[in-house]
Amino acid sequence: NHLLLNDSIVPESDVAISYKDRGYHFGDGVYEVVRVYEGAFFTLDPHIDRLYESANQIDMSLPFSKEHLKANLEAYKTKEQLENGSIYLQITRGEAERNHLYTREEEPVLLGFVLPDRPPTDASTVGIAAYVTADVRWLRCDIKSINLLGNVMAKRKATDHDCGEAILYRETAVTEGSTSNLFLVNNGTLYTHPADNYILNGITRREVIALAHELGIDVVEEPFPKEVLAHAEEAFITSTSIEITPVHSFKGDVEATLKVGPLTKKLQQAFTERVQKTRSA
Ligand code: PMP
Repeated sequence: NHLLLNDSIVPESDVAISYKDRGYHFGDGVYEVVRVYEGAFFTLDPHIDRLYESANQIDMSLPFSKEHLKANLEAYKTKEQLENGSIYLQITRGEAERNHLYTREEEPVLLGFVLPDRPPTDASTVGIAAYVTADVRWLRCDIKSINLLGNVMAKRKATDHDCGEAILYRETAVTEGSTSNLFLVNNGTLYTHPADNYILNGITRREVIALAHELGIDVVEEPFPKEVLAHAEEAFITSTSIEITPVHSFKGDVEATLKVGPLTKKLQQAFTERVQKTRSA
């Protein structure tokens, strides 16, 4: 087992990260998860672009060009002989004496490792239950920060209520899941929160919107209140790891039962085809 550490591929036993790393003290860092299907990266460029954008948003400049990082990721994937799985990649602001104030002199620390695929479940066909609860996170959810306490707490709460995901809402709008974006279907139209500071603009979300356009499905990116969840015809969540997963019920602050409907299935099919096309490209 090797890891990607800064510019090198090193055995796991050689990885030593300082206890003074600001990622450890402050959650001062950003990350990405990129999927590999049949030995090929899926949507690598938008993930790398988002990583650099997240870093830029926290005033952190990265030591590598995008091209250099992509070459390192390819080399790492080859070294690990990764066929199906994901690569987790994080960049923290690096080592410093503990002080909230950063100096811009720190040297960022990049760490990448393989995340194996989770064992397959029937969630993609039967769907999951989703626990609707208040969104208590900060106001820059567009940054893919490693600081994930709000998400972590929501995920635990959902699981404690036998749900596979938490769906979060602010006063006037349902935002997203704890680790996913949310889509609703009503009258043949897709609804999802707009890509602003209240959500992470998922790469899978963007793929789904593009696929919907190709299929002639209308997409409305507007905030909607949590009450709307109660009369959704279909709902699904999206992310790199769970792709398109239907929601069969809402629990918690909204209760509803939904069917795994035709539009969700159509988009799942189109997504699978998109993955296959990338593989053969
Ligand atoms: N929102 C949040 C809060 C997430 O953690 C994730 C997964 N990283 C997503 C949305 C989905 O993003 P993506 O499709 O790029 O995996």
